[in-house]
Amino acid sequence: MKKLMVANWKMNKNVKECSDFFEAFNAKYTQQRDAWIAPQSIHLNLVKSLGEKKGILAGAQTASEHISGAYTGEISPRSLKELGAHFVILGHSERRQYFKETSKLLNAKIRTAIQEGLTVIYCVGETLSERESGKTLSIIEDQLHQGLNDLSKLNVQNFVVAYEPVWAIGTGKTATPKEAQEVHAFIRKVLSGKFPAFGNQTRILYGGSVKPDNVEELLAQKDIDGALVGGASLKAQDFLALCKDK
Ligand code: PEP
Repeated sequence: MKKLMVANWKMNKNVKECSDFFEAFNAKYTQQRDAWIAPQSIHLNLVKSLGEKKGILAGAQTASEHISGAYTGEISPRSLKELGAHFVILGHSERRQYFKETSKLLNAKIRTAIQEGLTVIYCVGETLSERESGKTLSIIEDQLHQGLNDLSKLNVQNFVVAYEPVWAIGTGKTATPKEAQEVHAFIRKVLSGKFPAFGNQTRILYGGSVKPDNVEELLAQKDIDGALVGGASLKAQDFLALCKDK
């Protein structure tokens, strides 16, 4: 399977900046690695049309756990799908931290998103103090168990997991390939136990200050199937470098 590179643009880029990115990106993107892009939801339709010719898929950075109703300001996964979203990122540490999203709430969001036909990228990761006190694997296990609780009857084949150590996001610090591989192998084991039919083939992405100069040693690890990229995905030239096989 090709490596998967997912751009998380967070709350960045206006309409012109989205168009400028694609003008530069499409001119050189050769589809060696899959490229998915999550802009602000309001730009989903635009990003979908700009990337379509090159097979670039668009997605959202969060979604409601509800399909419709009196939830002022929320966005329904059904509406995201209608706008052209292929996937949704759920459980990003910024959502857990600033918007108080718990793994239990994320389980409800994952369930609704899958039922609406979106591929889910579920993010897990430990904080620095959790790592330093030796709790990394138990935190990850807990986030997986709670977030993925009772999903086995749903169509979860198109599920992706992203391991993003919180201390490595936007900080310039990256987990060493060995540290990342240790957690990825553990996630693989938990997924295979939970979903025996396909847990083994689930793509597991690494995220946290991934850049053109550190991506290859991370992708060389056995259980790292791609990357979720924030800062370095905003510049077309950097994201292009990440989307090329070496
Ligand atoms: C992210 O926000 O998912 C992320 C990994 O950000 P950065 O690449 O900037 O660390």
